[in-house]
This record gives sequence, structure tokens and C-alpha cells, in this order.
Amino acid sequence: MVNSAGEFPLSCRIIALVQERNRLFSYPLDHLAERIRETGFCCISCGACCTRIRNGHVFLLDRDAEAARSIDPSSLVPAPDPEFCDQNGTFYVSGYSLRTRGDAAGSCWFLRDGRCRIYPRRFMVCRTYPYMLRRVVDEQGTPDWRFIARLYQHGRSGHRIQPEECRRIALETREYENALLMHEITFLEFMRGYLLEEGLYHDPVQYARSLHRAAAGDPVTIMVYFDQGLEEQVVGAGGVGRMSSLSFC
Ligand code: SF4
Ligand code: SF4
Repeated sequence: MVNSAGEFPLSCRIIALVQERNRLFSYPLDHLAERIRETGFCCISCGACCTRIRNGHVFLLDRDAEAARSIDPSSLVPAPDPEFCDQNGTFYVSGYSLRTRGDAAGSCWFLRDGRCRIYPRRFMVCRTYPYMLRRVVDEQGTPDWRFIARLYQHGRSGHRIQPEECRRIALETREYENALLMHEITFLEFMRGYLLEEGLYHDPVQYARSLHRAAAGDPVTIMVYFDQGLEEQVVGAGGVGRMSSLSFC
């Protein structure tokens, strides 16, 4: 069921995420731990995953956005690709991302000389990488889970990962994926109520216009979902497509 703009209604998107969460928990942890063992992945600390060479942006869960803000308030920017835009041209996005430093590689705000300067306090997404999962269905229609970080393209393979380490990584990965799904579900539930109460609706035409305005360097308001509410930010020159191109007015 899609609306006239070719989008699934909010309630359907919420149900799909709840089902995804159920599938996550029905995937045996031992199976995931075994998959991790099979990768034999060994990080070589090249730092590429802390740049746009490997990751378009680093999305933060609320607890991590709060921690990043307490370390350095300027480390946060609204995440790219806002989910909604109302009829007045205001964007809504599900959370914050880490700012990049504007260098050629698009380095994370906290990366200095190839090293994370907050490593002991790095965020949940940073600890989970590169084992984040995506559910896929193969050509025979069989559902499975894949690691999205293309483990064969970085690091070293052939490493023997101890069983207890595999299980620890599996648990941490599931915890992260669950937290991310819960964040997306609560954001959509919040937006369903908010739009209704405020007499607003998602307007794809205004979305395109606001993108255009932002790209032209005009200030555009973006409401960022954080701590079960919305924080108003204004983005300026560069638009709302990539985190490092956002600038606060
Ligand atoms: S916070 Fe640290 S570990 Fe996380 S992306 Fe930035 S530099 Fe990398
Ligand atoms: S996880 Fe991969 S990209 Fe990141 S530092 Fe390790 S080897 Fe490099």
C-alpha cells in the first residue's frame, strides 16, 4: 500500500521495523557468532572507517549524541537525507551525525593524525563497526543477514577470533541493531503524532523545493529528533545531502 507520492504510510513503515526487530531476535546468536568467526577479520587500524572513504556519515543514537555534545557541542550535525518535509518547507530528520572536518578524506571531527582522540569513549556505532547487519533475501527467496561493511575490502582476513570474542561481538552487534531499530520506530511514532497534532503533513513537492533552496545556500530549518522531542537547527550553504556540507547559520 503506497500513497500518491509512492511512499508507504507511516503505520506500515513502523510495522515493517517492528517485524525487522522480531527477525533480529529470532536469528540465533550462536549462528551470528559463528559467522563472525568465519570472517577471520582483523582490524589494521587504518582509520578509513572514520572518514568518508568508507562511510558516508556516522549516525549517532541519542545516548551517543548526548555524549558527543558533552565532549564537543560542535561535533554534531543533523543527519543527512531527512525523512520528512512539511508543507512549510521544514525538514525532519531522525537524529544527529558526527560532523566531518572538511578535509579531502572527510575525516570524523574526532579523528586526529589517523587516530580517534576519544577512543576509550567512542560511540556504540564505532564499537560495532564493521559488523553491522543488513537483512537480505537471496535469489531463491531465502532470508539471511549480511555484514554491510564489506569485510574483504579492508583489514586483514585469516585471523583466528576466539569463541568468547565472537560471542561478545555478536551480542554487541545485536544490541546495536536493536537500539537502531528502536530509535527509528520511536522517531516514526513520534512524527505520526506530531504531524497530526500540528496539522502538518509530509509534502514531497516542498521537500524537493527545500533541497533546492539549501543547495542554493539559502537557510533551511531542520528539526532533529533527539531525546523524544525535536531540536530546531538551521542549515545553510551546501544543502542537506551530506553531513560535512551542512553549516549552521
Ligand atoms: S568517534 Fe572516533 S572511532 Fe568514531 S568515527 Fe570518529 S574518529 Fe572514528
Ligand atoms: S575497521 Fe577496517 S576501515 Fe576501520 S580501521 Fe579497521 S581495517 Fe581500517
